[in-house]
Amino acid sequence: MAYTVAIIGRPNVGKSTLFNRLAGRRLALVDDLPGLTRDRKETQIRINRRDVVLTDTAGLEDAEPGSIAARMREQSEQAIAESDLILFVIDARAELTSVDRGIADLVRSSGKPFILVANKSESRASDAGYYGSYELGLGEPLPVSAEHNMGLGDLMAEVTNRL
Ligand code: GDP
Ligand code: MG
Repeated sequence: MAYTVAIIGRPNVGKSTLFNRLAGRRLALVDDLPGLTRDRKETQIRINRRDVVLTDTAGLEDAEPGSIAARMREQSEQAIAESDLILFVIDARAELTSVDRGIADLVRSSGKPFILVANKSESRASDAGYYGSYELGLGEPLPVSAEHNMGLGDLMAEVTNRL
C-alpha cells in the first residue's frame, strides 16, 4: 500500500521545484529523460522503504483573476482530502498572505498530519518569514531550499516519521 503525500501552498512558493527535487532524487533514471516529466503532477517514490505517491498542486495560469483564491481553496481541499500527509509550503522570503492563512485553516481543520515547510530558506533573507510563519499557529516550520537542495534530507526523515 502506498501513502499519498500532497504538496500544497499558494502559487509561487516553490511547490513544483520541491516536487521535482523529491521525485528526481528517487527516480533519477526516469527523470533523465528531458522534457518527459516536467509537467507531471503525481509520481511514485520510495522514501526510507515506504512507497509514497507524491502529488503536486497544479498551477492556476488559466484561472480568472478574481477566482484564484476560490480555486486555490478548492484545489487545496481536494488535495488534503486525498492525502495521508500534507506538505504545506510557504515562501520564507515573503510575507504571509491571506491565501497562506486560508490554507493554514484548511490544514488545521482537516486534522490530518502535516509538515509546515518554509521554502526558500537558503539565506538570511528568509529569517523574518521563517519566524513570521509561527503566526499560522501550525508550530515549528521546517526550513528547506528546494532550489538549492538544502534541508531535503531532514524533510524526508520527517515525512517518514509522520507516515
Ligand atoms: P509553485 O508555483 O509553488 O509550484 O512554485 P515553483 O516551483 O514554480 O517556483 C516558483 C519560483 O520560486 C521559481 O522562480 C523558482 O525557481 C523559485 N524557487 C523555488 N524554490 C526556491 C528556493 O528554494 N529558493 C529560491 N530563492 N527560489 C526558489
Ligand atoms: Mg507549480
